[in-house]
Amino acid sequence: MKYISTRDTRGECAERISSAEAIKRGLAPDGGLYLPENIPATDIDYIRSLSGLGYSDIAAKILSLYLDDYTEEELRADCSAAYDGKNFNGTPAPVKKAGDGVWCMELWHGPTSAFKDMALQLMPRLLSRALKKTGETRTALVLVATSGDTGKAALEGYKNVPGVAIKVFYPVDGVSRVQKLQMMTQDGDNVDVCAIRGNFDDAQTGVKRIFGDPEMRDALNKRGYFLSSANSINWGRLVPQIVYYYAGYVQLAGAGEISWGDSIDVTVPTGNFGNIFAAYLAKRMGLPLRRLVCASNSNNILTDFLGTGKYDRNRDFYTTMSPSMDILISSNLERLIYLMTDAETTKSLMGELSTHGCYTVSPKTLESIRECFDGYFADEKQTSAAIAEYFTEYGYLFDTHTAVAVSCTERYLAELPARECLPMLVASTASPYKFAADVLSSLPGKKSTAEGIEALDELSRRTNTDIPAPLAGLDKRNVRFERVISPCDMPSDVLQYLN
Ligand SMILES: *Cc1c(COP(=O)(O)O)cnc(C)c1O
Repeated sequence: MKYISTRDTRGECAERISSAEAIKRGLAPDGGLYLPENIPATDIDYIRSLSGLGYSDIAAKILSLYLDDYTEEELRADCSAAYDGKNFNGTPAPVKKAGDGVWCMELWHGPTSAFKDMALQLMPRLLSRALKKTGETRTALVLVATSGDTGKAALEGYKNVPGVAIKVFYPVDGVSRVQKLQMMTQDGDNVDVCAIRGNFDDAQTGVKRIFGDPEMRDALNKRGYFLSSANSINWGRLVPQIVYYYAGYVQLAGAGEISWGDSIDVTVPTGNFGNIFAAYLAKRMGLPLRRLVCASNSNNILTDFLGTGKYDRNRDFYTTMSPSMDILISSNLERLIYLMTDAETTKSLMGELSTHGCYTVSPKTLESIRECFDGYFADEKQTSAAIAEYFTEYGYLFDTHTAVAVSCTERYLAELPARECLPMLVASTASPYKFAADVLSSLPGKKSTAEGIEALDELSRRTNTDIPAPLAGLDKRNVRFERVISPCDMPSDVLQYLN
């Protein structure tokens, strides 16, 4: 199976590369994103044959459909290292009943308690092999600017992986106390963490500048390194996310909640459009998913897009209690546009986005997108209300991002005629403890002012649930990284780390 850039307009003559090459490159040289030439098909017998398999075996099977330049042994070894054992407590994507006809697929049992682990525990291993397969002798230096979740998940994924090193920059006052402690106490021989004076944009701009600087490229090259990115535009981060939609469906059918072949609906709390695009790929592959509900917070650019066909980032930006969805450029939407149109159209729309900050798709394109997707959003009040309601009614506690999805699900179901309602699978993307302070203040009763580690303890007392192991005892761990630098010193800090 070969991969093509979403902006390669050469048709028959377009550059076709292997999956290893696509994973090594991340972004295409023309600025586009890589997609497979065609989408493999799976029928209900195939899906049924997955029942009885462990998560890592399901993952290896699905991955082998896309990464055919990796051997089955390689994929099995990598999936086992990523998902078996204590990494995910043995159950990477358990499906739990959360309410009437609503199931949550908990994707946050990994080492950082957020769903980014599902991809970032596997992708570094795929990258490490990709370097060998493409004859690369240099070490990949993964540079990350983070507003919290991605940095920690990337550190946990890349630590001690051969052929790669990772360095994370975070804004010193721009992440939560828990997130800061998670990063300052990171273990691993090939990791470095550095705080910068400034906000997330300063960190991001600094990293982008290093990527675009030819002198840095030379200096790194002389030391045997090249730059790589852990961003969700990389195909290696997307393909592991297809797996859990299969695993979730198999659990529902295996438990008799649905019959094999029955359709279900899916809601995904969406930021960069990566997770929900993976669900769309699963649907195109033949998994019986009827509609995909795209859930946004007050940054509801995707809700507007799905309603009108106009994607317009010229709008106010809100800081919400679901920060991982505070995004105005959903990069992976480009992949959907490409599949619904062609490279010419995609290239021209993305050009409009970068020059004018907006674009409009044709009515026909909008119609085909709306055959699969519905857009809803939840404001802060609705998000809090969903947390309170489900905890009070069903004793089920979820985080702020999942709460956005559940709130959207309620409105989606309320607008459907009852006979058209299908079982709903909600992608649950973070542990409630990761956003403990906001979850606490959403619960009915006495308002809490607890923050940081105290909020974890109080949430545990109030809800009679356990703090996940990766977050417990954070304040007692050894602090390894305390450096704080100015953004202008980021390049020299990178070189110093490599010396
Ligand atoms: C990253 C993230 C999301 C958004 O996922 P996308 O793939 O960017 O759409 C949602 N919830 C949480 C907790 C996240 O960390």
